[in-house]
Amino acid sequence: MYDLIIIGMGVSGISAGIYAKRAGLKVLMIEESAPGGIINSIPKIENYPGIKEISGPDLAYNLFEQVNNLNIEYKLEKVTDVILEDIKTVKTTNDLYQSKYLLIASGRRPRLLGLENELEYLGKGISTCALCDGSLYKGKDVAVVGGGSSALTEAIYLSKIVNKVYLIHRREEFRGEDTLINEVKEISNIELVLNNEITDLIIKDNEFKGIILKDNKELIVSCLFEYIGYIPNTEFLKSTNIKLDHQYIVVNNKHLTNIKEVYASGDVTQKEIYQIVNAASEGAEAIINITK
Ligand code: NAP
Repeated sequence: MYDLIIIGMGVSGISAGIYAKRAGLKVLMIEESAPGGIINSIPKIENYPGIKEISGPDLAYNLFEQVNNLNIEYKLEKVTDVILEDIKTVKTTNDLYQSKYLLIASGRRPRLLGLENELEYLGKGISTCALCDGSLYKGKDVAVVGGGSSALTEAIYLSKIVNKVYLIHRREEFRGEDTLINEVKEISNIELVLNNEITDLIIKDNEFKGIILKDNKELIVSCLFEYIGYIPNTEFLKSTNIKLDHQYIVVNNKHLTNIKEVYASGDVTQKEIYQIVNAASEGAEAIINITK
């Protein structure tokens, strides 16, 4: 029986874990894949205070080291269900854990376009991680789709590795940060393809060869990198009455959900700003509120 279970070991979950351990709580963290979460796929982080520049995997490694240095207990298991009674029960693929308080910091995952054959070619010409797969396409032509800060950041990263990046966005204006938009416009091997959408994949002899656009133009590229937003990881809450909005968890300004003793923080929550720095602060704030 734990005081607190934290679901998710991304920035928000680990920040919460650090605060919980230091507050003397008996805490267990549960993570389905790699500690650090989505930052593992970010090539360069330059807006975290006190760290001038760091790669996402390096920051994730530092966070994980901090977990180990503080002897915070964790399990690398997939959460499949939670039961929210006086005692909170968290079921995983391996076991069942119980606590008085629960913090959900399960983050979100990349959204896909929903094209025919897309899932089949994920990892074989379609990617949601330029940092993981970019080096496979050294000297080749690739496409990035999306108009937010992620698509801009990754297009900049890829432009230094590949021959050419087509940056495809369905509108005239990008919605990402101005500094990134300006940087993209300065890079000679990024070609902007605006007011256009991808309608199909070109597959020949079971190999990904490129994409077809709404105007029927074909782009021959070695990889399509998709950065079109995210889907929150809340499927394991299906048997609860936690209030969701578009699958994101609704919390108040104390990070408390509509259910007593159940908190949520970071990218899995419904909010205005999704930054690493506020994911960290929300995890800490949730624990301060719990310990109060
Ligand atoms: P986002 O801001 O939600 O942008 C998603 C983009 O994908 C939008 O341009 C959207 O088009 C487009 N899109 C969505 N569905 C589409 C579809 N079916 N077909 C074609 N295009 C589609 O996502 P994000 O860029 O991943 O950013 C997520 C959050 O992380 C944001 O809050 C962002 O500020 C933050 N972030 C910050 C940094 C940084 O600080 N440097 C870096 C990365 C991310 P529309 O514009 O038409 O809706």
